[in-house]
Parts: sequence; C-alpha cells; structure tokens
Amino acid sequence: MTIETAATAGDGQQPVLVLFRHDLRLADNLALVAAARTGCPIAAAFVLDETSQGIRPLGGARRWWLHHSLKALGEDLARLGISLVLRRGPMAATVRQLAMRMNAGAVFWNRRYDPPGMAADAQMKAVLKEAGIGGESFAGHLLHEPWRLKTGAGGPYRVFTPFWRALRQAVEPRDPVDRPSALKAADHGIDSDRLGAWRLLPSAPDWSPGLSMRWTPGEAGAQARLAAFVTDGGSGYDRRRDLMADDAGTSSLSPHLAHGEITPFQIWQALAGRQALSAGDVQTFRKELGWREFCWHLLFHNPLLATQNYNRSFDAFPWQHDDKAIRLWQRGQTGYPVVDAAMRQLWQTGWMHNRARMITASFLVKDLRIDWRSGEDWFWDTLVDADPASNPANWQWVAGSGADAAPFFRIFNPVLQGEKFDAEGAYVHRFVPELENLPKRHIHKPWAAPEITLAGAGIVLGKTYPRPMVDHSLARRLALEDYRAVGKSP
Ligand code: FAD
Repeated sequence: MTIETAATAGDGQQPVLVLFRHDLRLADNLALVAAARTGCPIAAAFVLDETSQGIRPLGGARRWWLHHSLKALGEDLARLGISLVLRRGPMAATVRQLAMRMNAGAVFWNRRYDPPGMAADAQMKAVLKEAGIGGESFAGHLLHEPWRLKTGAGGPYRVFTPFWRALRQAVEPRDPVDRPSALKAADHGIDSDRLGAWRLLPSAPDWSPGLSMRWTPGEAGAQARLAAFVTDGGSGYDRRRDLMADDAGTSSLSPHLAHGEITPFQIWQALAGRQALSAGDVQTFRKELGWREFCWHLLFHNPLLATQNYNRSFDAFPWQHDDKAIRLWQRGQTGYPVVDAAMRQLWQTGWMHNRARMITASFLVKDLRIDWRSGEDWFWDTLVDADPASNPANWQWVAGSGADAAPFFRIFNPVLQGEKFDAEGAYVHRFVPELENLPKRHIHKPWAAPEITLAGAGIVLGKTYPRPMVDHSLARRLALEDYRAVGKSP
C-alpha cells in the first residue's frame, strides 16, 4: 500500500520523531513506516500522559502490561538501532519539548479515538505547528474511522447489525504493512526515563504472578497468540467461544489489541484461507471484531459513555448502595460458584471469559442492583484488556442502559448459565478450589447438595464456602420491579 505524507520532514537531515502510545508494535505501524519512507533519521518516544484534561489513569492490570510491553518494544527498536525515549507528562507540552530538543522536523503518530486522547492530540498538533514542527497522524487501531459511517438519516448508528452491514460495505480491510527491516537512527543523545522508575509494576503486595503465567505482553507475544489461534486453536470457535473452561476456545487477543501490539488488519488477513477454521468460525470471529468497532463508534459519538447512561431514562434507576456487597462480588465470595470462579479468574489472570463477563456483570447490576459504573470501574482496574470503548459499552449493554442493549428482562440465571456453559464444572473447579471435591451435578448449586455429599467434599457452607448472598429468584423479581419503575416495562 502507499502511505501519503504531507508533512515536510525538514531538510532530510532533521529527525522524524515517531510517537508510540497505544500502538506498541513495529509491524503494520503506518506512522513508523511513513517516517522510514521520508529517508530522514528516526527517533522514537513513548509518552505516558496521565494529566491531560479528562485522561483516565490506567488501571493496575494495564500498568503491569504496559511495563512489559514497553520493555519488549524498546528491545525490538534497539535491534534496529533506535532507542525508545520514555517520558511522562502532558502530551502536547512533553512532545513539543522532546521534538525541539531532538531538532525534529516532524512528529508522526497513530491516531487515538478516545475523546480526551483526541483532544490532547489536537492540542499537540497545534503546539507543534506553532513551533514550526510538522505533525502527521495515521490510522491503524480500527478497521474504520469512527466518524466515517453514518445512518441514512445522517446520524451515528445505535444498533449493531446495520452498523456492521454498513462497515462491511464501506470498508475493505487493507493489507497490513510489514515492519521496516532497517531504520536510519537519529543521533539525538537524549536520555530516556528509566522504565522501572515509573513504578508500573505492583509491589507490596505483588499480585502479578498469575498474570505473568498467563500472558506474554509485546508484539512477539501477540503474533504467537494469533498464530496459535489461526493454525489450530480457533477451530470450532463458533461453537466453543461460550465454553468458559476452554482456554483455547477464544483468541485471547484482547489485551494485545488494546495495547496495539497487533492490528485488526493483521488479524483479518491471518484468518483468510485457514483450513483449521470453518467459514462459520471466521464469520463469527470477524463479527466479534465488529463489536469492537461498534464500541468505538459509540464512544466517539458519546464521549461520556463510561460515566453517563446512554439511555438517560436510566438516570432515575434506584441503584442500591452497598459497599459490602460490592466487595463480596469483587472477591468472588457471592456463593454462586460460576460468578465466584469468574471474579477470581479476573483477579488471578487479569482477564475473564466473555460469557463470564456477561454473567458477573448481570449479577452485579441485576441481582445486586448495583450501578453498572461500579462494575465498570473494577473491570477497568483489573482487566489487562481494559478498553475505554469496549468496557463501558458492554457494561451498559448488560445493564440495559446502552445502545442495542440486552432487554432489561434478560437476567442471567447464574446456576443455569453455569450448567449450560460449564457443564463439567471444570471452570469452577479451577478457580474455586474449595469446591474441587464436589461432584459436578452439584457444582453450580452447592447449597442444594445433600449434607452427606457436602461433608464428603469437605465443605461447610457459610464457613469453607459462602451461602448465596442473595436468592436469585427474589433478586430477579426486585430487579424487574425497579426496571419497570423507570419505564422499562415489556
Ligand atoms: P475473542 O472471542 O477471541 O474475540 C476476538 C476479539 O473481538 C476480542 O479480542 C475483542 O477485541 C473483540 N470482541 C469480542 N467480543 C467483544 C465484545 N462483546 N465487545 C467488544 N469487542 C469484542 N473487551 C475488551 O477488549 N476490553 C474490555 O474492557 C471489555 N470489557 C467488557 C466488559 C463486559 C461487562 C463485557 C460483557 C465484555 C467486555 N469486553 C471487553 C468484551 C469481551 O468480553 C472481550 O473482548 C473478550 O472476552 C476478549 O477475549 P478474546 O480476545 O479471547 O475474545
């Protein structure tokens, strides 16, 4: 493909500074490739911006990931002779200062789409212009530019199916571009911050060993996961993607996508012509990527998606305020084994299966009637793939307040969900060891097991494992009453 660059890159001797933010990769990185094509020397920087207006500080799990991903990116760039300069501060001022100290003729970056990030980037462009430094941005995080698609009436989409149809008609995903094989390094002599000094890793306590066992942050880790998925792992995706105990049933690419270690274009292309995957597997998987696009479309048009009900009639919803209940949910101590397994999977590995996310979110919002924003916040802090668009859009989808949302009367029954999507109880056995000796026919309903069975499994309800914190049928009735009260009756 051709990449057009309008930016003047000085006299060919001045460096082009390439910024890395949520695009921690060398392959299919349009900003990097465009910079290389100018023939100018290249400098590279990552700026951690936690102070520009409206920027939401990263949660703990993403900070852990970022540390390791930056380390991997720094090593990859070093192999090409480029040193990655780390800086912390507000984007516009920090980049301007760096570019001036490097005597850069231009700064190239890949576009962000979260509203505060976009505002910070617009400010950066203006500040650079003022300083006489060229600035040019490129696409790559999404298949579509979120402002591009409009309904027949000229507005944003509110429903997934027509959105996806429109996107498929308007966008033919381009081929990914290769990583540059060689780069001319700028000799700027500027020191980097020390990554360790940023203290992105947890300490006292260090809760990250489970994350280290599960994940390999960085571009190589992303490519390895993609390769495993398309050569074998993804076979039967259409059927297996709901089975919570099946680790290989989904791609686990979400944290790599969130950090831009891989692009949807690379994934799209890798799916084509794979024998291991049926046409149905590929179609369903691409549609999931479509949900990611839809979430970004929603965020672009609704900048307050993480804090404000998309459907404002939910502003009147009488949420319960119960810190103790939130804590039990967070710690996986609700007494519903599938909910507890899922919350502990999140805590131990920084990730949760999609089906489990829906079950646990429904439990918080509908069984406990706790505001979806509390759950969104907890996921933001604990997910390695915490995403400014997908996280709030999905929470609002489950709560019923979102676009194309689940109907309010759809309340997940945690027992039936467990029996259907963890029929063997393997997911519960893995994450709730207190129940490991309970036979599978009781695993999703330990309170209904005979005393003798519980005793044989070493379980004392209320002591070794909690009794259910709410009665699901009663909680369901109360939730329906509240939903009807805000006018959501069927
Ligand atoms: P796969 O099944 O392999 O899907 C491939 C890719 O498609 C994913 O990596 C992801 O990028 C995209 N995708 C799949 N399902 C969805 C979806 N429902 N919405 C948007 N994109 C999707 N996903 C995040 O990436 N970040 C989040 O912060 C996030 N928060 C969520 C919160 C809740 C309450 C719920 C119900 C879902 C959330 N999701 C989020 C969506 C989904 O659960 C994850 O994308 C998925 O579980 C990631 O695992 P995977 O990569 O193996 O998915």
